[in-house]
Amino acid sequence: MALISVTELQQLIADTLSARRRTPERENIALLQANNRVLARDIQAGINIPAADVSAMDGYALPAAARAGSRWRIIGESAAGHAFSGDIPADGCIRIMTGAVVPDGCRCVVMQENTESGEGILTVTQDTAEGSNIRRAGEEVASGDTVLSAGRILRDADIMLLAALGFHAIPVWRKITVAVLSTGDELREPGTPLTSPEQIYDSNRHTLLARLSRLPVDTIDLGQAPDDPGQLEALLTQAAAQADVIITSGGVSVGDYDYLRDAVDHIGTIHHYKVAMKPGKPFVFGSLSESCWYFGLPGNPVSGFAGFDIFLKPALWSLAGADPVPEPLRFSAILTQPVKKSPGRADMQRALIRRDEAGNWLAEPAGEQDSHRVLGVSRANAYLVLPSESGPLPAGATVLVQPFTEAFL
Ligand code: AMP
Ligand code: MG
Repeated sequence: MALISVTELQQLIADTLSARRRTPERENIALLQANNRVLARDIQAGINIPAADVSAMDGYALPAAARAGSRWRIIGESAAGHAFSGDIPADGCIRIMTGAVVPDGCRCVVMQENTESGEGILTVTQDTAEGSNIRRAGEEVASGDTVLSAGRILRDADIMLLAALGFHAIPVWRKITVAVLSTGDELREPGTPLTSPEQIYDSNRHTLLARLSRLPVDTIDLGQAPDDPGQLEALLTQAAAQADVIITSGGVSVGDYDYLRDAVDHIGTIHHYKVAMKPGKPFVFGSLSESCWYFGLPGNPVSGFAGFDIFLKPALWSLAGADPVPEPLRFSAILTQPVKKSPGRADMQRALIRRDEAGNWLAEPAGEQDSHRVLGVSRANAYLVLPSESGPLPAGATVLVQPFTEAFL
């Protein structure tokens, strides 16, 4: 199979997934659970926002536009939740608070800062035009307006909007089920002792499970499997019956004990397995059945980390119903040190980005870039996204960076 570019593999994954898209099931969940879930229907407002003409300021509601120097009798009050009811004489006015209903017959609100008052009399100190400081009923959202579309990944401000519109039960797509398996005879579980120098702790499965917890995903933890073709096939076959997606770590390169490609090939189909990316060249995309996708990440921790960001995140969001699938945040930064790079593969190097006093983003490569370096990726807060044609770059060059969004508040 040919080495293809990062964008070609991203496109291949997106196209293959959408060619065999199953409509996920809907469920209604409480608003409090809806953050980061994918909306399954368009949402139409059932009420106006604001619900009535309300005051935008603390001040005084007047039955007409007011000139500086004009005087008015204060005859009542309208507070949020306590509207004024009654008639307002032509020379009268109403003390009014932000968000309170503007009484019938009032034509403007004078902000408190533009008034003086004493002994029940208000003096306006600035001309105030008709309509000033009044938010009209429905001016922001009119009942019947579509405010959010199906496919939307609900975020903090959407919870605010949905709550403001009075929604409590939110229609979302059911979470997808993702099974995670680590492979390798050398692996031991964190929390248990290493009993020989050939053993290492399984960091990839824990990283994957942690990262999946931020997606609309139910996880199945398949633990660790030995480098044994029969056992791997049995495990994958079993998991394919339960999961929408299986992600494995390790065993996908060209080593003597890399059995996963064969296993996937026996059970189902391999769509692609080699991408011109560094780290993370071995990356298997396949399907194990009509209903179960397979992604095989290489065992080197940083390769799997980058593969997850570049290929898995968009794939999982797409399977979870997100439409459009969000793009990663990327922007330009200036290298503070030279970068080693050979043309031919796109690099996702690890870096520390920060802003200088002038507001420019600077990027400092996070040391050696080998794909086993877990300390370097932990210290980093961004990728340097270097295109395949790029060679080495000098300090001062402008590069594209992709922040680890969880590293920023
Ligand atoms: P592999 O892709 O299986 O050839 O593994 C490549 C490298 O990654 C080897 O040094 C493995 O020991 C290491 N590795 C494989 N799986 C894991 C894992 N789950 N956690 C940490 N390192 C791993
Ligand atoms: Mg291995």
